[in-house]
Amino acid sequence: MEIKLAKMAGFCMGVRRAVDMALYIAKHKGDEEVYTYGPLIHNPQTIELLKERGIRPVEEIELTGRGTIIIRAHGISPSETQRLREKGIRIIDATCPKVVHVQSIIRRHATENYSILIIGDRDHPEVEGLMGHTFGQGIIIGGLDEVDRLPDMEKVCVVAQTTQSKDEYAKISERIRQRFPGALIFDTICDSTEKRQSEIKKMAGEMDAIIIIGGRNSANTRRLAKISESCGIPTFHIERVDDLKKIDVSGFGKIGISAGASTPNWVIRQIVTAIVRSEE
Ligand code: SF4
Repeated sequence: MEIKLAKMAGFCMGVRRAVDMALYIAKHKGDEEVYTYGPLIHNPQTIELLKERGIRPVEEIELTGRGTIIIRAHGISPSETQRLREKGIRIIDATCPKVVHVQSIIRRHATENYSILIIGDRDHPEVEGLMGHTFGQGIIIGGLDEVDRLPDMEKVCVVAQTTQSKDEYAKISERIRQRFPGALIFDTICDSTEKRQSEIKKMAGEMDAIIIIGGRNSANTRRLAKISESCGIPTFHIERVDDLKKIDVSGFGKIGISAGASTPNWVIRQIVTAIVRSEE
């Protein structure tokens, strides 16, 4: 069996930065209570590792005003930041700089009275955070058909969740441009997302099956699996090494492997090693 591992598999810059910050804090925190604001990233193994090192995810409601809280790579809304400040808790902001950039585009245009259209997954923490920066002038668009149901608007600014599908964003942007010819459309899909998605499409043309590794709660991992499936290639989304028992890849000669932006390298290594060993 030939196995090809995608160059872009695993942590993106923003996730690596957030995890490195959390691990550094874990090492130096002493007796201080340290939390992450919700799960730091969408990967269960990383959350388990952080818990072992004394950092656990909490919801705002549980916070008592003591200790330190780390803001996840996806960022949060200004009102959430304000509420945390009022509780007197120390904040360490691990928001990805690229998400900060999208937040600033939104704030600038919301201040100039633009309606802000955010193309993304309604319940995703990044999108919820971005909405908070629209000062109540934001609308989330989850699919092409939602564009037709939009009310008439004079000034329209469009951004995408950083891990959106590039093809989907292009289709939705085009429909928005038809309805609102003067719309300002910003390409805010992260280049690491773009490269990961292009690589999987290329791999799908070369391999017999694709394995995507990553959290089931990770939207970008699920999207990667969906892109692979849409290329018509057998695709298996697995989260951990034990999941290999649930799939049968023995009949495929060439297997491509990629992983979502929140999948740690050690999980990818573990799974690739297990596949190679199963062949020996
Ligand atoms: Fe940042 Fe891009 Fe990773 Fe999102 S996908 S956290 S924007 S580096």
